[in-house]
Amino acid sequence: MSENTMALHKIPARHGVVVPVSRRDEILVVNTHGTQVLDTWAFNRDDLGEHMSMEHTRSRLSRLTPMAGDTLYSSRRNPILSIVEDTSPGVHDTLLCACNAEIYRELGCAEGHRSCEDNLHEALASLGLEIPFTPGPLNLFMNVPVDAEGCLQRAAPRSQPGDRVRLRAEMEAIVVFSACPQDVTPINGTECTPRDAHYSLVPAGDE
Ligand SMILES: [Zn+2]
Repeated sequence: MSENTMALHKIPARHGVVVPVSRRDEILVVNTHGTQVLDTWAFNRDDLGEHMSMEHTRSRLSRLTPMAGDTLYSSRRNPILSIVEDTSPGVHDTLLCACNAEIYRELGCAEGHRSCEDNLHEALASLGLEIPFTPGPLNLFMNVPVDAEGCLQRAAPRSQPGDRVRLRAEMEAIVVFSACPQDVTPINGTECTPRDAHYSLVPAGDE
């Protein structure tokens, strides 16, 4: 299937989507406006207790940030996703937790501000699934530079409109994307405005 004929599905600004995948399926993730961070999770479809783990991935890769060609590992050190292609500058974050209600309370936002943590659990609930925890996400396009003193900055994404990351499932998995609702810090761009992003599911053998 050529990229021109693939159906693009919306990841609505401030909301999440769930994408069940089979091994070798690919997901093309498009940063439509260039500035939107996408918190990304993956779970073993047969056992949600096994999930994509940034600490295991950093340990296996000996890198802070995975690159095109890298495998992403589960909490049991099994390959769960891999990055096949990345047309962005490759700036993604593996260090920060998902935003949640407590963070927005600390920032002085009104109650009910949407969060990536809520988006994850809402997306899983749409399939009748529930987990009692929130794994650390792969924060696609999130720009969190680490300086020489080990301090973390929160900067605008370096990606451009249309930049894309192609992920491949390495097991039967449930993938969740959250278009981060953060509108206080510049993590979703200096306009502090969450935007839609898009994805396509490319079934295995359908290239
Ligand atoms: Zn978020």
